[in-house]
Amino acid sequence: MTERYAVIGNPVGHSRSPEIHRAFALQTRADLEYTRIEAPLDAFVATTEGFFAAGGAGLSVTIPFKAEAFKLAKQLTARAQRAGAVNTLAPRPDGLLGDNTDGIGLLRDLGENLGYTAEGRRILLLGAGGASRGVIEPLLGSQPQKLFIANRNGDRAAELARHFVDFGPVDGGGFEEIEGEWDLIINATSAGLSDSELPLPFECFAQDALAYEMVYGRDTPFLALARNAGARTADGLGMLVEQAAEQFYLWRGVRPQTAPVIQLLR
Ligand code: NDP
Repeated sequence: MTERYAVIGNPVGHSRSPEIHRAFALQTRADLEYTRIEAPLDAFVATTEGFFAAGGAGLSVTIPFKAEAFKLAKQLTARAQRAGAVNTLAPRPDGLLGDNTDGIGLLRDLGENLGYTAEGRRILLLGAGGASRGVIEPLLGSQPQKLFIANRNGDRAAELARHFVDFGPVDGGGFEEIEGEWDLIINATSAGLSDSELPLPFECFAQDALAYEMVYGRDTPFLALARNAGARTADGLGMLVEQAAEQFYLWRGVRPQTAPVIQLLR
């Protein structure tokens, strides 16, 4: 019987997850359908419960529902527990299992696709939402020199930094608190979706910096600024495919190949 999967978010029309999971299905000869569900902002729980009650086999969760998905899950993987955000839901006999594959997706894209090592680097992480929460612990695990989380709402970033302080040298605050130069600057805000500029100092890009934009498929003001500052740039398509492969593995126990799918989508 065809298994049903979907990505749930709001907005969700931009998501390329359906193309990715359909490509994984072709590659692994899986009989599945994968659609987009735009849940009303106040109806994530009802929409999700309805999907699984009707036999749904798995959901990818995107903006702005990762914190709600965390609360809804009856069980959590260790990495989702630490992140405090869930981007993957799977039905289990004793309730929904919540996982977070964003961190491993980013690290695999950096390490395996871009040949970049974060060890010893100065990392500036922009944003304090679900995506940011998911990548902090894996980034600290790669032993950077330091990590600063900057967010529009600076208190949120400072609080997030305190939450992860046992995992490595992390601090957080508002954009106005960004000082000095940074080797790896990751934009985990959703500002690029609305073409909004971030109040980022031009001087924050170190020589040979890598600017990583989690938003994919569009040229954002962050990418333009980074290019003007002479930085190497990357968008989040590789991360998206890598985190999706980890979801596919959780749902179906098969690990698809990512390189041909990244190539296909580009
Ligand atoms: P959330 O809604 O949880 O968080 C949004 C974040 O963006 C908050 O930190 C918010 O700041 C900030 N923000 C929003 N608009 C602006 C703006 N105009 N100026 C400055 N900051 C802004 O979203 P997620 O964390 O789940 O996702 C963030 C982005 O990352 C999305 O665009 C998503 O598509 C992308 N993403 C990509 C992935 C990939 O695989 N490539 C995986 C996961 C996410 P504040 O707290 O002040 O409101």
